[in-house]
Amino acid sequence: MEKYSGKSVVRGIAIGRIYLHKKIEYKVTDQKVSDVETELLRFLDAVERAKGQLDGLYSEALEKVGEDHARIFEAHRMLLEDEDYLDAAKALIRQGYNAVYAADRAGIRFADALAAMDDEYMRDRAADLRDISRRVIRVLLDMPEEGIRLEESAVLVADDLTPGETVKLDRSKILGFVTVKGTAASHTAILARSMNLPALVGVKLSLADELHGKPCIVDGFAGMFLVEPTKKELTRMIVQKNQWTADLEALQKLKGQDNQTKSGKRIDILANIGGVEDAEAALAADAGGIGLFRSEFLYLGRESFPTEEEQFASYRAVLEKMEGKRVVVRTMDIGADKSADYFHFQPEENPAMGYRGIRVSLDRVEIFITQLRALYRASAYGNLAVMFPMIISVDEVRRIKQIAGMVRKDLEKEGKTLQAVPLGVMIETPAAALISDQLAREADFFSIGTNDLAQYTLAADRMNRQLEGVCDPRHEAVLRLIEMTVKNAHKAGIPVGICGELASDMLLMERFLEWNVDELSVVPADVLKLREAVRALP
Ligand code: PEP
Ligand code: MG
Repeated sequence: MEKYSGKSVVRGIAIGRIYLHKKIEYKVTDQKVSDVETELLRFLDAVERAKGQLDGLYSEALEKVGEDHARIFEAHRMLLEDEDYLDAAKALIRQGYNAVYAADRAGIRFADALAAMDDEYMRDRAADLRDISRRVIRVLLDMPEEGIRLEESAVLVADDLTPGETVKLDRSKILGFVTVKGTAASHTAILARSMNLPALVGVKLSLADELHGKPCIVDGFAGMFLVEPTKKELTRMIVQKNQWTADLEALQKLKGQDNQTKSGKRIDILANIGGVEDAEAALAADAGGIGLFRSEFLYLGRESFPTEEEQFASYRAVLEKMEGKRVVVRTMDIGADKSADYFHFQPEENPAMGYRGIRVSLDRVEIFITQLRALYRASAYGNLAVMFPMIISVDEVRRIKQIAGMVRKDLEKEGKTLQAVPLGVMIETPAAALISDQLAREADFFSIGTNDLAQYTLAADRMNRQLEGVCDPRHEAVLRLIEMTVKNAHKAGIPVGICGELASDMLLMERFLEWNVDELSVVPADVLKLREAVRALP
């Protein structure tokens, strides 16, 4: 048995086999070749072999998951016969470029052209084209299939996972996560938390291929990862797992109860979600609503912008599921660690302090308008509120309100039915906390994002493992900013909630109640635990 320690970001125990995910990285250079004819043949041979792989994948998918899912491989095969793509790659090889470069350039050129089209169907083909050109490159470089393809339930072990990779995972097949990199405040950890799967980050193990398929245990209580556990360990962990399941069941009796201390002080407890699927867990946990829907996850793990219709369908689905309970959607906080290629962001020295959140929305207004249109249209289907991330000034809020007002008017002219939608400000920069008295006059509510508030107040990157002790949201400076924000909100007569991870901190619950924080929004799995903590207070 091998034992590794790590930082637990989600408690719980997972017992299963390891699925080892290794990123396939290749470098594309524009190196020239001397033998053009051989290179051409090498390219054409790779295309043929790629087609053979796709035929194999098609038959396999047809048998396992049916025609609907198998069709994608057939479509990819057809794209590999696209004369324009092939001719573009061949032309580059004839100019002396190597086949990998030619396949890569031709793929990018055509994918970008497709992605820029108005037609949604064609835009979706951009992703397929990138996929097929990567496939040809992998064949040329003799590399294995990429992507995370779990055929049966397993514990996912990886060096690191991006939020984009995490949102694409088949949740029903993941038992737990173990990553070598990552921090508790990273968005991948946040996603693991919202899936309520035992997860460890910072586990220092070397990702040797032999790990794949080995039995393992993720102990999210002790922060331990056991590979090939002994029988004794296995029995011990099964007992602990059963106890944990029983504890969770015991919490169920709190459903339908109030979040009220013994002396009658109340606080709302809502849930944070990253997508439509999480709403189910929020409901099951008897959350008072959704306090933070991180809408940027709708933009991740895909190759083109989600359309107004797609977004509308997601917001509507969550609103309908929540049956009149409050749903607060945070407009896309894209940027920093949450990025997607099709945004074509410039590389940045300090991405967390850079082009992200509301800065992107106010700069690329067309993307913002599409999102606001989808949100306002969805407002007819439930109790919607919208809030904005990374605010630092009153001017930003006024611009947002102006754009939102315009969107509203346009939709009304189009005859759409809309409801009143409160507009809130996220307080997650020290600037916003310090001018919260002014912001409170512009906003309908506040929601304090303690993850970013801690990172910016303490000048400590939340993604940096070495700074995990430093980036502490319990730091007195952060707590003072929270208290100040709550006071300013109440002075202006608006409600204020906390939606960062600090909201789950049981030890701070008394302080939050003392400050009269109106609402806490936490991962669905913590809703009943917090209720239990509130009810135990005098
Ligand atoms: C926060 O910063 O606390 C927050 C809730 O937003 P996110 O974690 O998505 O940055
Ligand atoms: Mg934030």
